[in-house]
Amino acid sequence: MAQNVLHHCNASSKFFIVSAVNGDLKNASPILIHKTIIAVIGDVKSIKLLSGQLLIELMNTKQSENLMKLQKIGDIQIKVAPHHSLNHSKGVISESEFQRDLEDDILECLKDQKVIAVRRITIKRNNQNFPTKHVILTFNTPVLPKSVKIAYMNCPVRHFIPNPLRCFKCQRFGHTITACRGKQICARCSLPDHDSNNCTSTTPKCYNCNGDHPAFFRSCPRYKQEKEILTVKITKHFLSRSPKNHQRQNTQAWHFIFISIKFSSHSFLLAKHAIYTQYHKHYHSTYYSYSPF
Ligand SMILES: [Zn+2]
Ligand SMILES: [Zn+2]
Ligand SMILES: [Zn+2]
Repeated sequence: MAQNVLHHCNASSKFFIVSAVNGDLKNASPILIHKTIIAVIGDVKSIKLLSGQLLIELMNTKQSENLMKLQKIGDIQIKVAPHHSLNHSKGVISESEFQRDLEDDILECLKDQKVIAVRRITIKRNNQNFPTKHVILTFNTPVLPKSVKIAYMNCPVRHFIPNPLRCFKCQRFGHTITACRGKQICARCSLPDHDSNNCTSTTPKCYNCNGDHPAFFRSCPRYKQEKEILTVKITKHFLSRSPKNHQRQNTQAWHFIFISIKFSSHSFLLAKHAIYTQYHKHYHSTYYSYSPF
């Protein structure tokens, strides 16, 4: 089912990326950067230099107009763009009353509540898609509201936790086949150079956890860990992005992860290393940036 998206408007964006037109901003003086930004838009919540680009969090959305006009820092020609994911949040509502309503009609009711896209979750059975009562809402704001109002009904909004990405080629988590640099591994037997449709093995073996199930088994302990990491990533880190809460959330997230490791059945050390790597990958990609860095 196609996702219905309202015309994207950046009026409520608070996170911006400032990058040099040629090269990067690594060699620019932080004093000069700070002075230039403050002179144009006043105080900001935070400025971070990451991989040669600046991530700026504004105090209010009114500052965005002036920031977008900025063309130079010292002698360096720059460009400014809203961050492509930090300005948005995704939530789910699950009301059976709206089961038969079209995505367009739901979006129409929600467009003055900062909703820019509506997508109903479907399930596949016998090669046919069936609609569920669960509807994903994309908000044009980094903070998810507790509820939305559709017609006369108040609908609680939960965080949307996507399913972990598993590569259909190499079976690892965190990327898709188009970005894969690994070699082909069978999802059924975990041996190389054939896919699961041409597999002749009678004993399944999971490439990710060595368990006696195929790599697409939803109860695979590694799949569950990936899902837990995504849950931590979304629910903890989107609560607040203030530096003061950063350390506390970091500790909470670690605590959560260690509890989940405790209950996993496989080698503790291996799991710890895998989780550490995955966590840092996810954590930094969420908290600081997505693809621009
Ligand atoms: Zn891959
Ligand atoms: Zn195989
Ligand atoms: Zn497994």
